[in-house]
Amino acid sequence: MQRAGKGRTPRRPKKPSNIEKDPVGVYCRIRPLGGEDEECCVEMISRSTIQLHAPDGLKANRNGEYKETQYCFKKVFGIKTTQIELFEDVAKPLIEDLIHCKNGLLFTYGVTGSGKTYTMTGSPGEGGLLPRSLDMLFNSIGPFQAKRFVFKPDEKNGIEVQNQVDALLERQKRDNQQSVPRTPSSRQRPDPEFADMINPDQACKFEGVDEDCCYSVFVSYIEIYNNYIYDLLEDAPFDPVRPKPPQSKILREDQNHNMYVAGCTEVEVKSTEEAFEVFWKGQKKRRIANTELNRESSRSHSVFTVKLAQAPLDADGDHILQDKSQVNVSQLCLVDLAGSERTSRTRAEGSRLREAGNINQSLMTLRTCMEVLRENQMCGTNRMVPYRDSKVTHLFKNYFDGEGKVRMVVCVNPKAEDYEETLLVMRFAEMTQEVEVARPVDRPICGLTPGRRQRNQAFKDELSRRLEERGGPVNGDPVQLNQLIESLPPLPPCELSDPSDDQTLPRLMEVLERRYRIRQKMTEQFNQTANNMKYTLQQFESQFSSKENVLHDQRSKLGEKDKVIANQRTEIERLEKKSKTLEYKIDILQKTTEMYEQDKRSLQQELEGREQRLQKELAERRRMEQRMQGMVTDTKLKWERECERRVNAKQLELQNKLWVKDEKLKQLKAIVTENGGASGGPAEPPRKPERPSRERDRNIAEKRSASPTPLSTIPPVHPMHRRSHSAGGEKWVDHKPASNLDLDTVMQPIIPNAIKVSTPNEKALSKCHKYVLRHQELASDGEIETKLIKGNVFKTRGGGQAVEFTDIETLKQEDPTAPSRKRRSGSREGPAQTDDIENRPPVANISSSHGYQKRRRP
Ligand code: ADP
Ligand code: MG
Repeated sequence: MQRAGKGRTPRRPKKPSNIEKDPVGVYCRIRPLGGEDEECCVEMISRSTIQLHAPDGLKANRNGEYKETQYCFKKVFGIKTTQIELFEDVAKPLIEDLIHCKNGLLFTYGVTGSGKTYTMTGSPGEGGLLPRSLDMLFNSIGPFQAKRFVFKPDEKNGIEVQNQVDALLERQKRDNQQSVPRTPSSRQRPDPEFADMINPDQACKFEGVDEDCCYSVFVSYIEIYNNYIYDLLEDAPFDPVRPKPPQSKILREDQNHNMYVAGCTEVEVKSTEEAFEVFWKGQKKRRIANTELNRESSRSHSVFTVKLAQAPLDADGDHILQDKSQVNVSQLCLVDLAGSERTSRTRAEGSRLREAGNINQSLMTLRTCMEVLRENQMCGTNRMVPYRDSKVTHLFKNYFDGEGKVRMVVCVNPKAEDYEETLLVMRFAEMTQEVEVARPVDRPICGLTPGRRQRNQAFKDELSRRLEERGGPVNGDPVQLNQLIESLPPLPPCELSDPSDDQTLPRLMEVLERRYRIRQKMTEQFNQTANNMKYTLQQFESQFSSKENVLHDQRSKLGEKDKVIANQRTEIERLEKKSKTLEYKIDILQKTTEMYEQDKRSLQQELEGREQRLQKELAERRRMEQRMQGMVTDTKLKWERECERRVNAKQLELQNKLWVKDEKLKQLKAIVTENGGASGGPAEPPRKPERPSRERDRNIAEKRSASPTPLSTIPPVHPMHRRSHSAGGEKWVDHKPASNLDLDTVMQPIIPNAIKVSTPNEKALSKCHKYVLRHQELASDGEIETKLIKGNVFKTRGGGQAVEFTDIETLKQEDPTAPSRKRRSGSREGPAQTDDIENRPPVANISSSHGYQKRRRP
């Protein structure tokens, strides 16, 4: 994880809450089958899905219980996918990120023989992701590369920037040390196996390179075998007699907590070819070590790291800005992982088996780390991720803990033998897709105006053009100087052999004079040019200083704007936080409202239900009332008729009896008269009683009341009742309120043994067992109604007396003081008429005959 920071690896980004994350990009590549007759158990069913079928043998063994399973990926590459297609999708964005100072990790995962190395490295003409990545990188940054040794790795995983002189000295030192010239153009292609990896017409280039920066590429290549790290680029002196086993390297954490291989060789490379050469050197070393140490290459992980250092050009656009804080370092790790199959599958023995076990262990750790990461991210748990359990995971810890783009190509061999291992690979791949990695943030802008390099180039071009116009460059070029000298008139031969020779010297003088004149002319011209040049330079300088002033102004303005931006950013953050809390509150309120509304709805439903039930009950009651009323009317009518019928029958019977008696009387009278000699009128023939009509009944009744029959002796009070209470020798409290009217009629109930009181008192009550209250009131028909309210007296627990009312007897009589409202048919008027019973014999103390009604209530 290398990001800007004082020329060293950057500080691990603090984890803000709103950090953006991307899932690990998992791609699947299916390689073609080895032979046409081989059984295929993997099928690509869409651009992002593959389906695995169990091979026939397995199906037969397990009763066909193996089902077809499908797995989804970011993209699936079928057997016909070319290397360039894969590169465009998988690695190109990572190179673009690398140039934008963002880190990347790309690894291939799969069973041995599934095409991991083919995908990563490729073969001649079919270069894999690694050579294509290098090619694209150099195609993009090629013209903007810094001179060698301007960037220099320090020993602590950082990169420093050196001044031009130091860089030049180092270059010279290196050139002196190396006998063989190292310019790529003069170098032979290192190995035919690596020649022509990439078709030139498939070259890729990223156009968004910041031209105002200088770039340098450093590569390192390590192998992790049996959980030991080996530097594949280390220049260890090779002793053919006693070859020393390679020394393993250790992992260190730099000051920004990034992991790096301590003391690992980082080679600065300036072209694709040079980078290839370095990679190839590492490959060769790896192969030699594997053979010599009897290692199985499929059980080792190889990590090729491309580190890109970049620093902005100064304001002139001429040299690198000598500011360490402006150096940005990013890296892309290209990892070819060991085969993921279980140990039993490889025929490893002895120490090899142990090694294989270890390698498997590191892949197991990778799997565990992914699982824990996923769990932590999905469930919000904080389980420790066991990165330290293996070197591979420890080295890449920061990609998962910090930030970066992580991509994995899962390689699949569709052959039947690999089916079960492939299933495991698929499960791991699916799980890995759910792990999220923090998206790398954009690097800050350096603050210098863009377009510096171009302007500088334009300035240089313009300068040389103008110089050319004014007679070419003044100093320096020996070729032009020689031409000038050659253009002077040639010197004549000046050997004097004859003393009388008077031609040679004058000729020489003439030539020299000519030369002198030409020289003077040239000096003049030179001076003029120098003056012109001076003038131009002055002009340039004044332009430059004015530009610098403008630039200074702009810079201060930019600083102000930056401040404003920073302020606004904090304000935005504050507002975002606020809006988040508000959203949260709104959420809660909405939930509460929903709950209340639900309550309301249920209560309303209940209310409606109850109202309906009430309505139903009311209707039912009304119906019942009507029915009851009908029944009451019916019963009343029935009973009225029945009563009438009985009264009539009784009357008839009584009349019959009366008639018989009358008859007997008459006969007796006749006998008496006969005996006494007295003769009366002829006896009236006996009248057969007829069935009385209602009218006649009334007449009869009137007649009878006019001459009262002494025989009517029905007691005015219910006889049974009376007997039960007074005849039993019980003592009564007879309560007659003073307000009662003295009716003075025969209807006064006579209660023997009674203590008469007008207000009841305890003393009287204590002596008695029974109580009767005479209560008078005016009935609706104007008659006085006397109610005898009777009760039992008993002692209370508190020592007092209590009356329990048991019976109400009603006696009704016309008010003697009121004028007669109801006149009965008959001729008599006056008080005597008020009651026809007052003349009756006093035996009938309490009776129920005409004028009296007796009602019993429970
Ligand atoms: P791994 O590294 O996973 O053990 P290799 O990359 O070495 O597997 O592949 C094994 C063999 O299969 C090699 O010979 C390789 O050329 C071939 N191969 C793998 N993938 C493909 C592919 N997509 N197209 C053609 N050949 C392939
Ligand atoms: Mg391989």
